Amino acid sequence: MKIKTKFFARGVHIPDKKSLSSGCPIRELPAPETVAIALSQHIGKPARPVVTVGDVVEHGTLIAEADGAVSANVFASVSGKVIAIENRPLPRGGTTDCVVIESDGKDSETTLPPLGEITPENIVARIREAGIVGMGGAGFPTAVKMSPKTPVDTLIINGAECEPYLTCDHRLMIEKTDELVDGAKLLAKALGVERIIFAVELNKPDAIAKLDVCEGVLVAELRKRYPMGSEKHLIYSCTGRRVPPGKLPADVGVIVENVATAFAVYEAVRLNKPLCDRVMTVSGEGVNEPANLRVRLGTSYRYLLDACGGETDDAFAYIAGGPMMGATLLSTDFHTRKTDSGLLVLTARQASISAPTACIHCGRCAEVCPMHLLPMDIDFYTLAGDYDGARDRGGALNCIECGTCAYVCPANRALVQSIQMCKQKLRERR
Ligand code: SF4
Ligand code: SF4
Repeated sequence: MKIKTKFFARGVHIPDKKSLSSGCPIRELPAPETVAIALSQHIGKPARPVVTVGDVVEHGTLIAEADGAVSANVFASVSGKVIAIENRPLPRGGTTDCVVIESDGKDSETTLPPLGEITPENIVARIREAGIVGMGGAGFPTAVKMSPKTPVDTLIINGAECEPYLTCDHRLMIEKTDELVDGAKLLAKALGVERIIFAVELNKPDAIAKLDVCEGVLVAELRKRYPMGSEKHLIYSCTGRRVPPGKLPADVGVIVENVATAFAVYEAVRLNKPLCDRVMTVSGEGVNEPANLRVRLGTSYRYLLDACGGETDDAFAYIAGGPMMGATLLSTDFHTRKTDSGLLVLTARQASISAPTACIHCGRCAEVCPMHLLPMDIDFYTLAGDYDGARDRGGALNCIECGTCAYVCPANRALVQSIQMCKQKLRERR
């Protein structure tokens, strides 16, 4: 059943470019010869390795265990031998230790033990055991989110997928509808809530139609506007509740989970499958055969691109994630993680990279900012080294890094990078 939705005033309309891959059914990508599985694929402490070089593992073997409450288990995504545990770079900077496994080609699989009775406690324990984290990009361990400190009455499954090009959540919604709804109901049971809302942008009418006939869930048809998928804007659009600055969705009685996370919960509870793979979109005008692929965690980006016919002659920029919030890559020498929803290759024309010029004080960045901030002021104070000014006058700490301001800026100011730097400096000082 559909519900009435609200509409937030700011944000932007952007060409969604989804037709490149929205018609491509999810294709299972064969296991690569080696995988490099990061021990840090989530917010919180990296997982602690429980294997050493030379160990033989199966697809689904625990290779690193959560180190503390805010951390997550990590599993082998192929069967074979551990050939290294080494430090490797991450797409957004920094490094993490990775367990490198050479596949034996057999793909022999092991699963988690049967769950027994499906109680809220057992569901949360299974989510923790299976290493499930927020797969929309945040990577927050899902089991932690299942124990909110305040009472909640609504679960929103985020199927907005407002980033251009990305279609992996869309394909999951139309190809795995029943499994997704089951996963959402398991999450709702764990939380003790009855109201489940699937929030989907209007540019996915087939997904809306399929979800609309499912029992026990509501569907919010969202107008297409970026950044509709941001938690705070999604909650307002679906419930009319506003999450105050510095507060969490649970503070207004809502938990938001991504479509892919709900699917992972279904697989962990019903099929005893730990989180070893995910669906990703490989797209962009610089890819010969855009696709939605089910990929093993730890697969190299190069392997993904080769599986999509490689790049076009005019390929120019590589992006991990979507073009608005993703990370521009200096090489394809990275490996898939739980939070990776896409790999894009853009041509020079699409990437439209120009050198920044001086701010012309047009105010457009502030007009579109969905958080009602002053991005030009944050930029100004940050570049002057006045991080307190950026925080107090621009509102830097409330920025959700959606990139809307940079998208409209006629001077091509690197506003998001400036805001990220400011936040980093304030964090370091704390
Ligand atoms: S200031 Fe932050 S929240 Fe506002 S548009 Fe820019 S990136 Fe988005
Ligand atoms: S949009 Fe760009 S040029 Fe205009 S005020 Fe903002 S930073 Fe300055």
